Amino acid sequence: MPATTEELLAIHGRIRGCTACPLHRTRTQAVPGYGPVGARIMAVGEAPGETEDREGKPFVGAAGQLLTRLLETVGLDRRDIYITNIVKCRPPGNRDPEASEVEACSHYLDEQIELLRPELILVLGRHALARMLPGEGSITRLHGRRVVRGERVYMPLYHPAAALYNATLLSTLEDDMRAVRAHLDEHESRHAAEREPVAAGDAREQLDLFGRARS
Ligand code: URA
Repeated sequence: MPATTEELLAIHGRIRGCTACPLHRTRTQAVPGYGPVGARIMAVGEAPGETEDREGKPFVGAAGQLLTRLLETVGLDRRDIYITNIVKCRPPGNRDPEASEVEACSHYLDEQIELLRPELILVLGRHALARMLPGEGSITRLHGRRVVRGERVYMPLYHPAAALYNATLLSTLEDDMRAVRAHLDEHESRHAAEREPVAAGDAREQLDLFGRARS
């Protein structure tokens, strides 16, 4: 059964009311995630920053604007992507999330992935990588490479915030976005090929019918 918007909003509601870790005391609001329930792609960052904390939406600050641009360069519209973070509340002063905070928040991300079942998960930066693919390797080694774990397909990428003021990382991120595009195109043509035998079967049936009708 396809996931429903109501189910996704129910998770968002629980996140907004969450008090499981000390970050709820300093947040303006929690940032559950944003995007359509039918998204083929999910993007997962680290934690909300100041703008996200204020607006209640993920990746709406400078890093988010870069992410939007990078997606657009390979023909992707961020409105088609479900975007979230491993930690849903802003750590004060944008410090790294603590292990206990990641631990307390993690089940929400698991629930979001389980509900949406995205075709591809973009893992943005080393914190998301450590949480989502523990022991798999560093971001330096894995960026732009497809990692398959069970039913899930991940693509680790450098965090857009790291590329904001680093031209080398930015160009790596642009290359890696092309790898994302290539993966989606490949997935698309594999599915088209899988659908083809049915069409061929239909065609055979029509020929048989035609043959029988003629005989
Ligand atoms: N950085 C993140 O990791 N997440 C956001 O939502 C914004 C910036």
